[in-house]
Amino acid sequence: MEFAGQRITVMGLGRFGGGVGVTRFLAERGADVLVTDLDPEDKLAESLGAIRDLVDSGRVRLRLGGHNVSDFTTCDLVVANPAVPRPWENRFLRAAGAAGIPVTTEIRLLVDCLPTRDRVVGITGSAGKSTTSAMIAHALGRLGERVHLGGNIGGSLLGRAIGPHDWVVLELSSFQLHWLGQGPAWSPRVAVITNITPNHLDWHGDMEHYRACKVSMARRDGPRDVAVLGEGVVYADGRRVVRVHAADQRGRLSVPGEHNRANARAAVLAVLAALEKEHDSDFARRVEESLADFAGLPHRLCLIGERDGVRYFDDSKSTTPESTLLALGAFGAEVARVHLIAGGYDKGMDLTPIAQRAGSLAGLYCIGTTGPGLASLAAGAEAVFACGTLEEAVEHARRRAKPGDVVLLSPACASWDQFVNYEARGKAFAALVRGARATAGGTQ
Ligand code: ADP
Repeated sequence: MEFAGQRITVMGLGRFGGGVGVTRFLAERGADVLVTDLDPEDKLAESLGAIRDLVDSGRVRLRLGGHNVSDFTTCDLVVANPAVPRPWENRFLRAAGAAGIPVTTEIRLLVDCLPTRDRVVGITGSAGKSTTSAMIAHALGRLGERVHLGGNIGGSLLGRAIGPHDWVVLELSSFQLHWLGQGPAWSPRVAVITNITPNHLDWHGDMEHYRACKVSMARRDGPRDVAVLGEGVVYADGRRVVRVHAADQRGRLSVPGEHNRANARAAVLAVLAALEKEHDSDFARRVEESLADFAGLPHRLCLIGERDGVRYFDDSKSTTPESTLLALGAFGAEVARVHLIAGGYDKGMDLTPIAQRAGSLAGLYCIGTTGPGLASLAAGAEAVFACGTLEEAVEHARRRAKPGDVVLLSPACASWDQFVNYEARGKAFAALVRGARATAGGTQ
């Protein structure tokens, strides 16, 4: 692909940097790039920071706070952010189409750059995509393969030197799959679909469109193609199917919960299919064992360490009571050994469901702005402590925890009262577990 001198409009930089990778990739290849976003500059500050050098050097121009139709009709190519809702109805993309301007996406540019689809494992599903993708990358890495993990996880792989013998593990959202189904449709040789439940229906319009986008990843494009499908995923598109049964997953896992056993099983089956070792039981055992030290994704119920027989889990990404209840549920009967640290910024959410669980836990340590309220809601339970800071909570939980117990940071609240963001909160927790002091922006 030749981009030098091409006038390219990147639609949607995104607050979380979705358009950053492709912008850099195109600008560095000599394209004349215009980045346009509905959001104004101040809302995009973080993403803009990541392309500041390109803007300052004039290689990238900006049109923020709205789109201009002419930017879509007088260029050579439009790169749409896959999050743009219902792109087939979008008036700017329709204008590009009417003017005969091709429209593509970062993920399409990436798959067009890959040396082969034969060494690509794609993962989609309504839940468990990131975990399963990271598990597959982890297992392949442990087996000595060179792996690139990307797509809907991490930064863009565009521009990455990917050799013909490297593996590419791509987490794919239903939006990205919609785009990969346009034009010459593309699919990976190994396609994993974890589950399909209603999600993003505002984007897709209806369940059938959503399902069709997910399942399109497993279209049959070659004789060695395999579909690894979670229980209940309906499929009739002609690939050889391998079914995931969580109960078949043997071996120890660091990440808790039945759902993670299903994710691990999907990962094992995907790796065996990728390496074409499905009939080698010794090898299957090795793949299963390789997942024992998969700690989880950062800040998502991730095992960060074990001290004096106590395991510490960071679930700082939990900013709602629902996600904290899910985290507690992952410990099953072990929940009676969980010391839960919760509380934070006050978004006005009702924390009663967390307070009601206090009696079934080894301890509830309340922090942040919502801490005192949470502690008084849970006052009837035995081991409830108003701790104020994360530091105090970790210290208190550490003193009370016995070998075999779990200390879990799953705040059910945003972090902004005491930290810059949930990542800083999770990092502070990890540092406290290691024995360092925490600060609002991170650790020292
Ligand atoms: P995704 O990338 O699809 O959003 P993640 O792997 O980041 O999924 O997991 C997000 C949350 O979804 C987890 O914290 C857990 O609560 C839930 N989850 C993960 N895997 C599964 C699964 N296989 N089935 C049902 N729920 C799951």
